[in-house]
Order: sequence, then structure tokens, then C-alpha cells
Amino acid sequence: MSINQSEIEMENYVRMEKLGEGTYGVVYKARDIRTNQIVAMKKIRAEEDEGMPATAIREVSILRELTHANIVSLLDVLVEESKLYLVFEHMSMDLRKFMDSKGKGSLPPELIKSFVYQITLAILFCHKRRILHRDLKPQNLLVDAAGRIIKIADFGLGRAFGIPVRTYTHEVVTLWYRAPEILLGSTRYSCPVDIWSIACIFGEMANRKPLFQGDSEIDQLFRIFRILRTPNEDIWPGVSQLPDYKATFPQWSQNTLASYVPTMDAKGIDLMQKMLAFNPMGRVSAKVAVKHPYFDDLDKSKYPSEDE
Ligand code: ADP
Ligand code: MG
Repeated sequence: MSINQSEIEMENYVRMEKLGEGTYGVVYKARDIRTNQIVAMKKIRAEEDEGMPATAIREVSILRELTHANIVSLLDVLVEESKLYLVFEHMSMDLRKFMDSKGKGSLPPELIKSFVYQITLAILFCHKRRILHRDLKPQNLLVDAAGRIIKIADFGLGRAFGIPVRTYTHEVVTLWYRAPEILLGSTRYSCPVDIWSIACIFGEMANRKPLFQGDSEIDQLFRIFRILRTPNEDIWPGVSQLPDYKATFPQWSQNTLASYVPTMDAKGIDLMQKMLAFNPMGRVSAKVAVKHPYFDDLDKSKYPSEDE
């Protein structure tokens, strides 16, 4: 009987309890028997009757080199027939559970600022390397036990495996953090989609409820338009040419973001507005965002350098 390399590697881990499930599969807590390190092991299944595509394995392997204090490290990649196991650094909890554990009301303003800064630093680091996240949401932000460090999980998986409409358990993949250019059918989107998602998470930490909680693509768009106004050619040149744009969209003409996020101060609202610019070309980049005055009173020596 032959035993292949990945089976040998699988034996390095002892599986413990289930941590959760998501878009592509189940996540288990596990222990690396060589080091006793506790890890999070994500099982990804290939499409039915298909093997794991070599391109996906190649894409994922690149992510092993993506090391930053605010990115959950990918420690190991194991392939077993139609299954792929991704071994990640283990974190205490995701931001959704963290927020739920904090009771009602806005998170402390300094904590929101620190978290948004850390997330933006991590996004800057990846965008410099031309890697998009594409699926930023509270479940993909993991917090340490002390509740001070936040790290982005699942970088690059969107590109490796695609973002399906439904998860492997047929749950609907959330639209709440999705940029308007994607909702309008653009297929050539880029870094600005991640900035949009950061803004949605930023607003959610303040409001303690998703900023734009749509239940279909059109409902998602209209919820965005209702708060930020309906975009037109003046504020977003080219919008009317996007595949799913309709001249018959209801016309909301006011931007009411500031009153919609009443606990946020003026500098915070200014940054959020710039992250929620409709025109992706005019949306603030991570590089510019980390220098925004909202972050001026942070002790930047406590965080990784912007130049990493
Ligand atoms: P999604 O597709 O929604 O991002 P995942 O499959 O990535 O879901 O993860 C499902 C859940 O497992 C997450 O919401 C989180 O609570 C937990 N989880 C994922 N990765 C880790 C990790 N590295 N450490 C601790 N918990 C994790
Ligand atoms: Mg995830």
C-alpha cells in the first residue's frame, strides 16, 4: 500500500473542535504535534466531480509569503485528492463574535479607530503586492484574545476559488460589504472594492448594525443609494454604461451618511465618505487612507510601518 506525501503531512495535525463554517468549507481547531502550536485548519472541497484545480493551488501557495502583523498567516497547504487543507494561525474570535460579546452600543471610539487603521495597513500591504481580498467582512477579521489586535483572514481566496453565490452548505454569501461597481455588474474591478468593504465595517462598528443590510443585489444597491444618493454620470463617469445600471433607478439626491452614523466624529465621517466614493477611480486608496487626519491621534509607533 502506498501512502502519499499529503497524507503523511496530515498526520502532523490532531484535529480538535469545529471553529465554524464558511464559504468554502469547515474550519477546525487543530494542534501541530511537532510544535504543539494551535492552528485553524480550513478544509476546501473542489467542485463536485472535479479535482482541485492546479491554478487554485498555485494561487494559494503565493499567500504563504504574505506575512504581516495584521494578516492571519497561512502556515501550511496540504492537498489530498479533491480536498485542500489550509492551515492558518489560530485567533481567538472573529469580529462578528467580538462585537456580539460587547453588548449594545457603539464600540469605544479609540478601538474603532485602531481596528480601522490596522485593517487599512493590512490592505495597503496586500494592494502593494497586487493582491485583492474581495471578501472583507466581519467574519474574515479575527481578533486576538486581548481584543486589541485585528487581522485579516482569507486574503486571496476569492481569486483562487471565486466568490460563489452560495456557500458549500447553500447559505447565501453576504452582499452587505460589496462595492457598487460589483453590484452593477462590472467585471474589471480592483483594489477599490476592498476599501468599500472597510468603510462598511467601519460604519458597522459605530452603529453596531450593518451599514447597508440588503437581502438581494437590487435591495443592496438601493440601500446604498438611499444613504449616499443615487449615482449619476456627474459623480461617477461611466456608471450608466455598467451592465446592470438602469436609467429607471429611483433617484435619491441627498447624502445622509453623517446623520446615519451619528456617533462618529467629523474626521471619521470624512474618511468614511472618501472610502464610500461611488467612482472607484475617485475612491481613496489604502495608501492615502492611512495618512488621513482621523488617524492623527493614534500612536503609530505601536503599529506596523506603512512602508512595509
Ligand atoms: P467565511 O467564508 O465566512 O470567511 P470561514 O470558512 O473563513 O468563513 O470561517 C468560518 C468561521 O471559522 C469564521 O467565521 C471564524 O469564526 C472561524 N475561523 C476561521 N479562521 C479562523 C482562525 N484562523 N482562527 C480562529 N477562528 C477562525
Ligand atoms: Mg473566512
